[in-house]
Amino acid sequence: MFFNSQKAEKIAPKIEAKLRKELGATAPLSHRMVGGEGGALFYMEFALPSPPPSRLLACVLKNGLLGAMVGELFYSAQLSKTIRSRAWLAREAQASGAAIGFAGDAEACEKLTADRRLVGRAAAFTRDREIISTTVIEIKSGFEIAPQPGAGSLLAVRTLMKGGWFSGSFDAREFLDIAAAIETTLPVVTIECKCPCHGDEYISHFVACCHRCPHCNRDIAYWTYENHLKHCAAERRGATM
Ligand SMILES: [Zn+2]
Ligand SMILES: [Zn+2]
Ligand SMILES: [Zn+2]
Repeated sequence: MFFNSQKAEKIAPKIEAKLRKELGATAPLSHRMVGGEGGALFYMEFALPSPPPSRLLACVLKNGLLGAMVGELFYSAQLSKTIRSRAWLAREAQASGAAIGFAGDAEACEKLTADRRLVGRAAAFTRDREIISTTVIEIKSGFEIAPQPGAGSLLAVRTLMKGGWFSGSFDAREFLDIAAAIETTLPVVTIECKCPCHGDEYISHFVACCHRCPHCNRDIAYWTYENHLKHCAAERRGATM
């Protein structure tokens, strides 16, 4: 997306309007402006419609002496399911033998990589090179899910707009769809509480560190409790049938 100006007051409304149209939102999208440095004129940070709670940080770069263009896009989504360790989209073959898949956390990667359609969509969404006319934009793209202790996990993607001279797309709807698909596909992780309060009666919390599961009678860390409860009940039902 290109502009014949470097003035934020001319560029920002066009970016907001385009993103709003892509998302089919009726009201202007809430956002804030963040100052840039070097080649970056400024950043715009948008709250995207949930679920899951998501954000887009778009970088606006100088283009020549008088123009500007949209550069790197940083998408993120707060997922409710947790993950034990980082998982990321890898361009190289993994143990599965597939050409492309997820690497890192074994439990999450097994599920994510098995969904070939999801892998393909994530790979297509993670763009690292854009050539428009004589302008080449190259970035170090990335697609990663990281644990957020106490709050599930965070999906973070660095990418570029989906090509086209003036018709480039933020592909924001696709990001929200991918985030929702990852939320569904991630395995349910059960983390048993290791809080020192269980052995020391003098430690107490305002907010409980865990809840006792009525099905398996274990102390489940509070941020995995709801997912665990659903999963544990279903598993027990399956076992007795
Ligand atoms: Zn505790
Ligand atoms: Zn506890
Ligand atoms: Zn349980």
